[in-house]
Amino acid sequence: MRILVTNDDSVYGDGLWALVEALTEVGEVIVAAPDREQSAVGTSVTLHHPLRMKKAEPRISGVETYSVEGTPADSVILGLQLVAADGVDLVMSGINEGVNMGNDVYISGTLGAAIQGYFYDVPAIAISTAVYNTNVRFEAAAMMGKLLAQKIKDKLLHPRSLLNVNVPYLSIDRIEGVELTRPGRRTYRDAIQKGNDGKRDYYWIVRGDPVWEEKEGTDIWAIRNKKISITPLPLNLPGSNRKSALEDVCSSLIDDLNSSHK
Ligand code: MN
Repeated sequence: MRILVTNDDSVYGDGLWALVEALTEVGEVIVAAPDREQSAVGTSVTLHHPLRMKKAEPRISGVETYSVEGTPADSVILGLQLVAADGVDLVMSGINEGVNMGNDVYISGTLGAAIQGYFYDVPAIAISTAVYNTNVRFEAAAMMGKLLAQKIKDKLLHPRSLLNVNVPYLSIDRIEGVELTRPGRRTYRDAIQKGNDGKRDYYWIVRGDPVWEEKEGTDIWAIRNKKISITPLPLNLPGSNRKSALEDVCSSLIDDLNSSHK
């Protein structure tokens, strides 16, 4: 089992290394991730200038690690073609510091990397966790990453799975379930700050507070109810995310999660 790990918070992200640590128990891990934060760049691929990739110092010894001067999707493309040229069994992106729910799915760099893995016909999973202060806990999200990787290893998930996973900001014993969800609606009130750099005007998009729509069965609803949300994407692709198989996996995951901390 070989896993390519990336993220959009950069190769130095604490969430990435919490995930890598958990995944080394399931298989060989390779890291290729952006050299700086790339949140909200979506599936963007760099085609108009050359990219640089260099070997980086891993935070966990023995993990082959590359820092990419590009987007999360670029990191996946270079990782798959140059580093893991003889193939990987899974692309995992995260753990993002902050949930990616609702409309975030369309702009998230965390998701963008996973989607790029999916485009290369590799099962791909994005993992994000809610964070409420600087004392970030990755325990539950990292465990979830490990359990899902194990499901891929055991061939319990479809080989073209593309899953968006969000984990509440709770210790494992306080999580109340694992739900199969659909994306809710979560949009931002953007503000534009105008200025002038001495020569030209500029406009800075500043994200305001998100507006949430919390309908039962959505990712937002699951997180609000202390449950892990698993959203299969794309929603209408036949065969890639068979619902019955996923429902079975979800119900076994909460049992796995509960027994993991005993
Ligand atoms: Mn991010």
